Amino acid sequence: MASFRTLDDIEVSGKTVLVRLDLNVPMKDGEVTDASRIERSVPTVKELLAKNAKVVVLAHFGRPKGKREASMSLRPLARPLGVALGVEVAFAEDCVGDVARRAVDALRPGQVLLLENLRFHAGEEKNDPAFADQLAALGDIYVDDAFSAAHRAHASITGVAERLPAVAGRLMQAEVEALTRVLEHPDRPVAAVIGGAKISTKLELLGNLIERVDLLILGGGMANTFLLAQGTPIGKSLCEKEMADTAREIMAKAEAGNCKLLLPIDARIASEFEEGAPSKVVVVELVPDDAMILDVGPGSVETFNGRIANCRTLVWNGPLGAFEVPPFDSGTREVAKHVAELTRTGKLMSVAGGGDTLAALAQAGVLDDLSYVSTAGGAFLEWLEGKELPGVAVLRKD
Ligand code: AMP
Repeated sequence: MASFRTLDDIEVSGKTVLVRLDLNVPMKDGEVTDASRIERSVPTVKELLAKNAKVVVLAHFGRPKGKREASMSLRPLARPLGVALGVEVAFAEDCVGDVARRAVDALRPGQVLLLENLRFHAGEEKNDPAFADQLAALGDIYVDDAFSAAHRAHASITGVAERLPAVAGRLMQAEVEALTRVLEHPDRPVAAVIGGAKISTKLELLGNLIERVDLLILGGGMANTFLLAQGTPIGKSLCEKEMADTAREIMAKAEAGNCKLLLPIDARIASEFEEGAPSKVVVVELVPDDAMILDVGPGSVETFNGRIANCRTLVWNGPLGAFEVPPFDSGTREVAKHVAELTRTGKLMSVAGGGDTLAALAQAGVLDDLSYVSTAGGAFLEWLEGKELPGVAVLRKD
């Protein structure tokens, strides 16, 4: 049973349910270019409609900073949301006040209303009590299905949840359950694969993971700083020299805490970071002064994959190389394919998240093969950092 309240814990028939969704989709010229966030919101709203609720959708779009910005209106999303749900979605020009009140009053069970961008009001991001009161007054029940915004203590996330009976929607539930299975109660051994450009942005995450996982695999630009810290020459590779001491501390902590930390043993190098630039594989000790490491090499992939094969749980954030430019996508792809295969055959529970990570996994063609893929960027990273997310904390069972 979940340690937080879900749709299973609440009776919604005939009630007005405020549902916080993540509709912050990419758009171009008024058209949605990637509807995955809309599609992921469908199960919760459909379930509420099937249970005869009146559904009022709360959402934000972009960063209008408390002012009305025509380019950030949610109006263009009413139609695609309706198409995804298979019902018409009404729209109200404001999320509070008379306009919102009238639109909510007109709603019948089984109908959906989308309210205008919450962030047109400064009270949303400030979690202003008066603004939260106004939002909460519109409904009987609050359902949060926006895990990606759960790291923000905004009025529509925590303010409303404190004022109404509040539960997690199905997407929120799936995200929290997947992350809990990976970090709180994992089947062991548990591995983390962490890549990406820099360690400075992932320090807290690394600090938390070495205390929780049995195996920490590092790749990408951030591994260069670790290689440098242990005295390996890295030529003109991307590196944060000033973080070398920190990298040494992380390595020492991992060793003291029984977390096996793996760095690349070989690398694909080039003298320029360009598509088609001549590249070759060398062991990391032999990276020339005028070359840069742009991907982990095949020897590293073999070592990483061999270790991963012994694990039962894996969490992944960050590409292992500059995957946007072939052939430097190879390391990420080969490890991703292996993780996908282990997952498909039931040997591994795998969770991945973060914008670049999803792009890299999609490019490797394995996005649908992992156990769970989180589309939440910041909230996913904060969870890996070990922080309690305000939007999840507020849904916990007492
Ligand atoms: P992050 O947002 O921290 O996960 O970093 C992702 C970025 O790191 C991607 O744009 C990759 O191209 C980049 N990256 C990964 N490995 C390397 C590398 N060895 N050298 C330069 N950039 C890299």
